Amino acid sequence: MADTLYCYHCGQHHPKTEMRQIETKGARRWRCIKSIEAAKKGREAREAFGRQTTDTNKAEAQSKLKALLNPEWLSD
Ligand SMILES: [Zn+2]
Repeated sequence: MADTLYCYHCGQHHPKTEMRQIETKGARRWRCIKSIEAAKKGREAREAFGRQTTDTNKAEAQSKLKALLNPEWLSD
């Protein structure tokens, strides 16, 4: 257990080589690289999903607007 550190994020001990010291609210704490990377990826994935959803909504709103302005479009 000599080469492990307590990870405040997981509430577990991980090998020292997998840990990074970070500062939160003025306190230094150890957090594992895995959880840091997972959080980063999670945020990127959420942002990508958010962008995608916004684009889809925009395209949908636009086609609905076109249909409203040109009703003959739909019956053709
Ligand atoms: Zn951890």
